[in-house]
Amino acid sequence: MMKGKTALITGSTSGIGKAIATRLAEEGCNIILNGFGDSGEIDALKRSLASSHGVVAGYSSADLTRVPAIENMMAYAEAEFGGVDILVNNAGMQHVAPIDEFPVDKWNVIIALNLSAAFHTTRLSMPGMKTKGWGRIINIASAHAKVASPFKVAYVAAKHGLSGLTKVTALEGATYGIRCNSICPGYVFTPLVENQVADTAKARNMTEEQVKKDVLLAAQPTKEFVTVEQVAAFAAFLCSPAADQINGADLSIDGGWTAQ
Ligand code: NAD
Repeated sequence: MMKGKTALITGSTSGIGKAIATRLAEEGCNIILNGFGDSGEIDALKRSLASSHGVVAGYSSADLTRVPAIENMMAYAEAEFGGVDILVNNAGMQHVAPIDEFPVDKWNVIIALNLSAAFHTTRLSMPGMKTKGWGRIINIASAHAKVASPFKVAYVAAKHGLSGLTKVTALEGATYGIRCNSICPGYVFTPLVENQVADTAKARNMTEEQVKKDVLLAAQPTKEFVTVEQVAAFAAFLCSPAADQINGADLSIDGGWTAQ
């Protein structure tokens, strides 16, 4: 069913996005990678996806905080792949500070990347999806699309906004075969989080296990991280026919965090 579709996954040079790109390549999708990183490593990832799964893999280095760069990326997808069938809006960043000290430039860049970029990729993907009568848009939101934490004002506002974007897209796409949902992970064990564990353990004189359970996973009832493979499998499921009637939902994968 997914074989031969083209999937664009933003922020797929690392973490969750990379796992989703790998999983969708396993399903037979052609892949467009995006994100920052070492050009040799990105090239190796592109080649390995193509050779391991017999798909076509491309890459856009677009900085998604810039609208013209997004427009160029979408034009590349159209020219080289005939458009985007599966759009995964995953690229995101975080900044932690109290509201009254929150740097205005950090607010602007987080809203641009975590929210506005998803609007731009969506508005530029929908005409092609409507014409083909099929499309899947998955917004990687967060538990922070449903609940707040202090000191994360831009991130929480952007992720709540992403939930609104998801619902409107779902309604407008519903009769065109387009489905749009958001995945709301709790803490996921990406390299970014992994690095924090060792640093926090040193700073607090705790073991790494204590840091994971009592600091990072304080809000996550299972006291276990979500894995990138679990998020990727969830995304693949949302592209499958079994998920055809799932539309406009904010779907938690958070070990029970938002049940509290
Ligand atoms: P990550 O830092 O490992 O990956 C982020 C990706 O975004 C990288 O590929 C990076 O190059 C790319 N990126 C950053 N700025 C960009 C820009 N301006 N333009 C284009 N690409 C850019 O992060 P991750 O943990 O894999 O997070 C991915 C998504 O999942 C984010 O939206 C994040 O909010 C969400 N999320 C993560 C967690 C978690 O615990 N890790 C939990 C909930 C939600």
